[in-house]
Amino acid sequence: MQLDRSETLFERAREVIPGGIPGIRAPENFVPGSYPILLAGGQGGHVTDVDGNDYVDMLLGYGPIILGHGEDEVDSAAAEYAGSGFCLNLPQPVMIELAERLVQLVPSAEQALFCKTGSGATSAAVRIARAHTGRKEIILCGYHGWHDWCVEHDQGVPAAATADVFSFPYNDAEALADLLRSHQGQVAAIIMTPIGHDFDAQIEVPQPGFLESVRRLADEHGVVLIFDEVRSGFRVDIGGAQALYGVTPDMTALGKAMANGYPVSALVGRRSVMESADATFISSTYFSNGMEMVAALKTLEVLTREAVLEDIAAKGRALQAELSALIEETSLPATVSPYPQMPFLHFDPQNSAEQRDRFYGALAQAGVFAHPRHHGFLCWRHDNADLSRFIDCCRASALAL
Ligand code: PMP
Repeated sequence: MQLDRSETLFERAREVIPGGIPGIRAPENFVPGSYPILLAGGQGGHVTDVDGNDYVDMLLGYGPIILGHGEDEVDSAAAEYAGSGFCLNLPQPVMIELAERLVQLVPSAEQALFCKTGSGATSAAVRIARAHTGRKEIILCGYHGWHDWCVEHDQGVPAAATADVFSFPYNDAEALADLLRSHQGQVAAIIMTPIGHDFDAQIEVPQPGFLESVRRLADEHGVVLIFDEVRSGFRVDIGGAQALYGVTPDMTALGKAMANGYPVSALVGRRSVMESADATFISSTYFSNGMEMVAALKTLEVLTREAVLEDIAAKGRALQAELSALIEETSLPATVSPYPQMPFLHFDPQNSAEQRDRFYGALAQAGVFAHPRHHGFLCWRHDNADLSRFIDCCRASALAL
């Protein structure tokens, strides 16, 4: 597989962009030399790189592409709306329509606010919880974005930004209870991903009673419970993990799958908590842009009309079975994701990093774009041929290790 143009463009990028490619998409996060560095486009469940190579896309832009790339129904609705002006002095009625839709779909939602990114929505949640309770401290679990209060790197972040932020391990309600006891009366919010999906780790399901214990502890301590469903929302269930597990937070951050790639995120929640947004200031030039909201409404329409999530879950269950059989057959040192909607062959970074890189490098070279250390995603437009190619390439890579 030729990757020359990727390499050439990367050299050019390095001159004018720090590191060439910033953040999670930097080449060193994949397998340098085996993966493309820049992509040219996508269609359905495929992406094409700048050298013209085609890949079955198992990463889907890190999750937003729930229908497929270039989904005409969504793109046409967005383009048509944009054609008559979408960045205006005042919000447009589509904002109210989208808020009403979220209130219908998400169990915890009585009101909604819109932002552009997941980080924006989680930061708004934390701000509102602090305003609502008059307390400062935050207890978190999981990844919530790149803003100062939660970023997982300390360079460039003043210690004061995280001085009131504490964390607990996923599925450890005891650790949370201890933290709440020792910070009695100080904690404004618990913010957590209801599903454990840390980078470079296999996905974890909530142990029986875990989410219920968190809910009970939040109530006992008068703490706002925030679910970060940026990744699980509109994916594991149309109402998110809170609908799947029947545990309702006070606020929920949503993004990714909501708009098939268009930049819009939401914070939804109980009216009594959400109304504390008025006491603070959450605003941005682009928060009320209508185009992305039209894309979100259309995406949600297709998700429900076409039973997309059922389709994705069924395809994912078939993949889980095939991947488990493949591990048996080939003794691949990897585990299979417990969520069909988020397929992942995870290798232990301590003991199997070298096999992992050879495995994923070979997959990329065979035309499958999956992340070595981040779980994958499925979309509605992945067809049987795509998924067979994925499984066949996994088998070939495993056998070649
Ligand atoms: N929360 C979770 C659970 C996420 O997965 C992400 C993005 N990976 C974020 C927050 C941050 O979202 P964004 O990258 O859109 O700011």
